[in-house]
Amino acid sequence: MNELENKTYNSRYSHCDKFIELDDIIFLYPSYQFERNPNSIAANLQCIMNYVKNITSLDPTSFFKQRTVVGHRHPSDEINGKNCQPGWMPNWVNIPWNTLNKDNEPIDMCTHELIHPFFACSPIKDRNEGWGEGFCDFLRGPTKEVMGLDGISWWREMIKCAKNKPDSTYHHPAGKFVLKLLEEYDNSSDIANIINDKAILKTFLRHLFNNFKNKSLSDYIEPSEGMKNKWQGKNKI
Ligand SMILES: [Zn+2]
Repeated sequence: MNELENKTYNSRYSHCDKFIELDDIIFLYPSYQFERNPNSIAANLQCIMNYVKNITSLDPTSFFKQRTVVGHRHPSDEINGKNCQPGWMPNWVNIPWNTLNKDNEPIDMCTHELIHPFFACSPIKDRNEGWGEGFCDFLRGPTKEVMGLDGISWWREMIKCAKNKPDSTYHHPAGKFVLKLLEEYDNSSDIANIINDKAILKTFLRHLFNNFKNKSLSDYIEPSEGMKNKWQGKNKI
């Protein structure tokens, strides 16, 4: 571990006694309570990183000068003594302690959380910060597919939210990204065709990164009411 990684570990995850280091991930867990194979979970987290690196051509590890520390966070590490929410900040992912031995976790929540470091080092982040949660839930679809967690149903759900839930800052914009992708690149509008098509995803992401660095994505995709309220006047959507 480098100095930054070590500092993240020691300051945030006091109840994790073991760690596994891979190319872009440091996975922290409590060996005395962990009932699954930590090596296989760490390998799956790295698999998410490999996939998203591939489709985005971004490298958060070199951008943040540290790997992403994915740690189980004990309630006593929180000011209020309660379980945290899953979350990301540069450059760690909090896994709530009460999901320790839950099926499909932390992989499922990390199909959202591990997109954050990529958005944060992408060219569109500064001008379009308010699109970040939607972007993460959008790429969660193909990432879930890669991890065998039914990304197709996820994208269907996002599309529903884009049509019916105008206030969401997460699912609504995620669905709008999916609809825009289908409109631009797939005449059949069949999600199953496009969600596993890395070449199309790469082209779409390159288009976003090349064209919306200094320009609002809202000129291209209609933002949700929730985003407008949250980011009003901040020039971030
Ligand atoms: Zn998020």
